[in-house]
Amino acid sequence: MVARLLVPFGGSAPAAHQLGKQHLGGKGANLAEMAAIGLPVPPGFIIPTTLCARYYEAGGRLPDTLLAALADGLAHIEREVGMGFGNPENPLLVSVRSGARVSMPGMMDTVLNLGLNDETVAGLARRSANPRFAWDSYRRFLQMYGDVVLGLDHYLFEDALELMKDDRGVTLDTQLSAEDLQALVADYQAIIEKETGQPFPQAPLTQLEGAIGAVFGSWRSDRASVYRRLNDIPESWGTAVTVQAMVFGNMGETSATGVAFTRDPATGEKRIFGEYLINAQGEDVVAGIRTPQYLTRAAREKASARDLSMEEAMPAVFAELAGMFETLERHYRDCQDIEFTVQEGRLWLLQTRSGKRTAKAAMRMAGDMVDEGLISRDEAVLRVDPAVLDQLLHPTLDPAARRQVIAVGLPASPGAASGAIVLDSATAAERAAHGEDVILVRVETSPEDIAGMHAARGILTARGGMTSHAAVVARGMGRPCVSGAGQISIDMDARVMRVGSHSFPEGSIITLDGASGEVMEGHIPTIEPELSGDFARLMEWADGVRRMKVRANAETPEDCTTARRFGAEGIGLARTEHMFFGADRIVHVRAMILGGDEGARRAALAHLLPMQRADFAEIFRIMAGLPVTIRLLDPPLHEFLPSREAEIAEVALSAGLSVQALRRRLVELHETNPMLGHRGCRLLISYPEIPEMQARAIFEAALDVDQGVEPEIMVPLVATARELELVKAVIDRTAEAVFAERGRRIAYTVGTMIELPRAALRAGDIAAHAGFFSFGTNDMTQTALGISRDDAGRFLGDYVEAGIYPRDPFVSIDAEGVGELVAIGAERGRAARPGLKLGICGEHGGDPASILFCEGQRLDYVSCSPWRVPIARLAAAQAALRQG
Ligand code: PEP
Ligand code: MG
Repeated sequence: MVARLLVPFGGSAPAAHQLGKQHLGGKGANLAEMAAIGLPVPPGFIIPTTLCARYYEAGGRLPDTLLAALADGLAHIEREVGMGFGNPENPLLVSVRSGARVSMPGMMDTVLNLGLNDETVAGLARRSANPRFAWDSYRRFLQMYGDVVLGLDHYLFEDALELMKDDRGVTLDTQLSAEDLQALVADYQAIIEKETGQPFPQAPLTQLEGAIGAVFGSWRSDRASVYRRLNDIPESWGTAVTVQAMVFGNMGETSATGVAFTRDPATGEKRIFGEYLINAQGEDVVAGIRTPQYLTRAAREKASARDLSMEEAMPAVFAELAGMFETLERHYRDCQDIEFTVQEGRLWLLQTRSGKRTAKAAMRMAGDMVDEGLISRDEAVLRVDPAVLDQLLHPTLDPAARRQVIAVGLPASPGAASGAIVLDSATAAERAAHGEDVILVRVETSPEDIAGMHAARGILTARGGMTSHAAVVARGMGRPCVSGAGQISIDMDARVMRVGSHSFPEGSIITLDGASGEVMEGHIPTIEPELSGDFARLMEWADGVRRMKVRANAETPEDCTTARRFGAEGIGLARTEHMFFGADRIVHVRAMILGGDEGARRAALAHLLPMQRADFAEIFRIMAGLPVTIRLLDPPLHEFLPSREAEIAEVALSAGLSVQALRRRLVELHETNPMLGHRGCRLLISYPEIPEMQARAIFEAALDVDQGVEPEIMVPLVATARELELVKAVIDRTAEAVFAERGRRIAYTVGTMIELPRAALRAGDIAAHAGFFSFGTNDMTQTALGISRDDAGRFLGDYVEAGIYPRDPFVSIDAEGVGELVAIGAERGRAARPGLKLGICGEHGGDPASILFCEGQRLDYVSCSPWRVPIARLAAAQAALRQG
């Protein structure tokens, strides 16, 4: 089955992209597809992803069948380009690259110029009539091979290069002559032999086998593993390997290499965006070693740059390239991120993929592409990843605030962030884990920095362009980033960042504006985001296809206001215990809990009634007739009992107890498992005066506000029908009393949380007393998995890493287990009471994957934190489109 071991593309090879990214990897599938639509792609072959697993099964060896098939693959390339692999007269050189199903920028290894040895280098020199180019290619190859395949430290090679430059009295690599580079090749070979005990392998086939093994091996490197975990990419996917004829952007002034986006990835504007370098190889652009030039004249003029843009320096090739961008966009119907090389005036495309973009750009592109007739509105809704909306919804710097700008770099990833300077990734991760806001400041980032970048609020680099590692990764993560701020320098020994004569020791607070590229001293206030324009339009399309309603979990006036601004269609969960955290209130709540008898409790409740009534009235006013679900008290006791001396004294006074008596009560009330203790409806059943006060406050507030409010009163932590029946009786009795006093009635419903496994199983009985169910998947996860919500953080990471749960089950619903309980609860509840209203109010209500699950269960609404409401609106629309 040679066809499955190797998939050739380019030239006369049959179209192969139908095999898909799953098999060919993203990079391979797109190369095959570009070749199939007639774009100029150097010929090559793909070793499919399935071989990656076989490589690991064989203990890190390439299967023999693959080794046999390599000759066929090489023969295809040789035929197409008319060169020979290892042929000293006319040598074929190849690149060996990784390519997983989804792109993992910079996470895996690449080897270029493979096939060079002491003989073929001479052939290359002759054929290109450019000995300098040949020896430069060879020394680059040795360095990459030494680093990637042989695992040698790249500093060994860089030091040798620096030494050579010093010795020759030059500062730039380009100033070294062919002879210098030849001497450097000898130095590099000596380094390899000294470090590995073996001479550098001269046989091109041995080189190729080594490089393929190294690419497969890099799939399990630390940095790739971290990236996979952060991006939910399964380990089992594996990477494909693409072996492709080399083309050279470093063959003189008519050669160049570059990267381009068909639209601006920061703003979404439809204009070519990118960078290129004349007489360079691709890695030079990506690594940020030389400062690249602009592609278009407009971009160069805007930046007042002197070096000619590609449009000016190579007008014919640029026009051809721009035409290919149009073809690619029409074909893929999306913005593309492209790598290209010009070899002696001839253009080659080396890669295309869907361009990563900021949230703002995603919105703009989706809208524009609908206007251009490229995609439909439904496709536009599906195009935007709900998770990226987070970027848009967060505040930006207040333009009126005073800014002490200390440096300016490139606006690499938008958003604003303040935090303490940290100078390395490990420190960033550590300080962030302790709750500190940090800004990671580096000369330039590399894939090793990925964990620190994720932990940081923002990223600042001294070097690198808009397509440098820091910029690409930060945009993908939604972290604000300023790159290439050349005025700053970093002294790792003294652990300070310097700007001119100013020093900023690690820990100093700075602010970044990723939209302007400015770096400022200190903390700067921010303002709320603008939610009109492209955002509003896309959300309107999303709302048009959405079936589930989206509500918010909110109980403060501020959160309710935010929720409405973000488009919440009601409150799905007002946690009344959260309304008591204020200093003037908590003391009465404590007195209520700790008061030994009903009299003491009623006295404390009398203090709380007017506060609750006013709070509810405020919520009803803000929500202006939208549904509001108020949950009766559910305080896990350990969160509410006093512990500090002063608090104990204050509560004793308020509860009318001696400090000593209060201490005795505290000991009595101490619980070993407070999450499974006297909370939720258990407290309401022990002390019916609590639901009585709360129900009274709700009804009185609704009558006071008089805006057609129909309160939904929710009972927490119900396991049995009888519990709900008892609490509901108190609520109904109180309602009648209030209505009689006021001489007026309002409509209301009493429903329940379904958050315990028993409640899901007995949902049929419970529905007899419930006007609605709201799935509390936080407690449901805690109790179904038997994992304490409060203690999970210590070990759940290990579980996710070991693949026991694919993601943190408190973030994304465990669809197989907790999901089945939800399905049972929904089905039994509806069977007992057709048309029963069902919602979800656990944290999962704001998680796109969980929202898709909820759509599958045909829930009526999801409820989530106010900031996540737009994410939930979009995710619910996508779920409706996907479920059909
Ligand atoms: C839940 O358990 O899912 C829930 C929403 O309630 P809480 O988080 O307040 O326990
Ligand atoms: Mg709960």
